[in-house]
Amino acid sequence: TFPRRIALLGSTGSIGRQTLDVVRCFPEYFEVVALAAHSNLSLLAQQVEEFAPTLVACFAETPAIREEAQRSLVEARGRERRPAPRLAFGLAGLLEAATLPQVDLVVVATSGLVALEPVMAAIQAGKTIALANKETLVMAGHLVMEAARRAGVAILPIDSEHSALWQCLRGEDGTEVRRLILTASGGPFRRTPLTELSSVTVAQALAHPTWRMGPKITVDSATLMNKGLEVIEAHWLFSVPYERIEVVIQPESIIHSMVEFVDGSIKMQASLPSMHLPILDALSYPLRLEAGTRGLIRPLDWAQVAQLHFETLDVVRFPCYRLAREAAEHGGTYPCALVGADEEAVALFLAGQIGLLDIARLIEAVLERHTTMAQAQPDIPAILQTRDWARQTARELAASLGVVR
Ligand code: NDP
Ligand code: MG
Repeated sequence: TFPRRIALLGSTGSIGRQTLDVVRCFPEYFEVVALAAHSNLSLLAQQVEEFAPTLVACFAETPAIREEAQRSLVEARGRERRPAPRLAFGLAGLLEAATLPQVDLVVVATSGLVALEPVMAAIQAGKTIALANKETLVMAGHLVMEAARRAGVAILPIDSEHSALWQCLRGEDGTEVRRLILTASGGPFRRTPLTELSSVTVAQALAHPTWRMGPKITVDSATLMNKGLEVIEAHWLFSVPYERIEVVIQPESIIHSMVEFVDGSIKMQASLPSMHLPILDALSYPLRLEAGTRGLIRPLDWAQVAQLHFETLDVVRFPCYRLAREAAEHGGTYPCALVGADEEAVALFLAGQIGLLDIARLIEAVLERHTTMAQAQPDIPAILQTRDWARQTARELAASLGVVR
């Protein structure tokens, strides 16, 4: 039923802002009930003014943030003469936004590793989940999918590759799938001489050839860790074993992924690289809305797209991809240790403290040390413990391995 009432976690980020573009374009279909972010109060205030949510959650909860939130969000309310939204803070605020009774659908667009508990709470509250944050499924895919199955709740992918796979699989019998083939652009360093990779700059890593995204996923796309995480995400979303999930480089980012069936037929999903389409698809499913006529999505220009290219992925060039596949094979707490270590390694790289190739070195060192504490069937507390252990171990190892500049 429409309008669908939405809680948007991570509203000030790249996916969050594009989700609000979709809502703005289709006000008769979508209504924003709750917004949540970390600490960007100036943008939150603009969003409050425009969308008039009933609840705003702010993860940061220092006295200064609380005071500033009261001031700026009340001011935003005053201009529009609407009732002020309720303010909530910390993890409790995210949980409240994710479980608000009047919410139908929770869009999970926070970066980092904070979304696991809000997602589990939203599932238990019976909310449909539109999931952009892949880290949640990498950490605890078995628990999230099992909880969703039990609660009868749908987990709808926003990640473009998974949206593509989902679109290709509609109306198909899952038993007839031979392979999932995820596409990857290859990032900014697809052709960089191997000897230069150790000295690339942060600015070069952030200059993605086809997508504009937040900093963490952009660095993950430069190391191809992102594609490794997406293999794990696809495994959980579509319950396809790892040996039947492959990756191919598609530098133009026009083909977003493919499904090969047992008869040899391959379906591909194509569109210009823009997240508006996968976001819209998750929000409006099972409807497809007229996005072209409203100017939200540009049509493919066949003359411009004239030639598509495909290449195999070079695992030597991208050790992070190999580490992700190895963690996936180990299963249990390994993928969680992988994303925990990656979170810290990427933060150190973005701060200019380690080089690009040190990211994989650091993650590998953390995974080697994980052996003694690894668990095969972790519950949520074990997952959260692994997450925090991996982050801390990565920070400690960065100092002791001498990779820090
Ligand atoms: P951004 O860095 O642009 O935005 C992150 C958002 O999360 C911001 O709104 C930020 O708030 C919020 N946030 C961060 N930490 C917390 C926290 N502890 N509590 C509450 N909110 C928090 O990231 P992206 O939008 O690029 O990515 C978001 C997720 O979507 C990632 O998991 C990414 O992998 C995934 N994704 C993104 C794609 C893209 O095109 N951008 C494509 C596919 C997947 P604040 O602004 O206040 O700091
Ligand atoms: Mg993706």
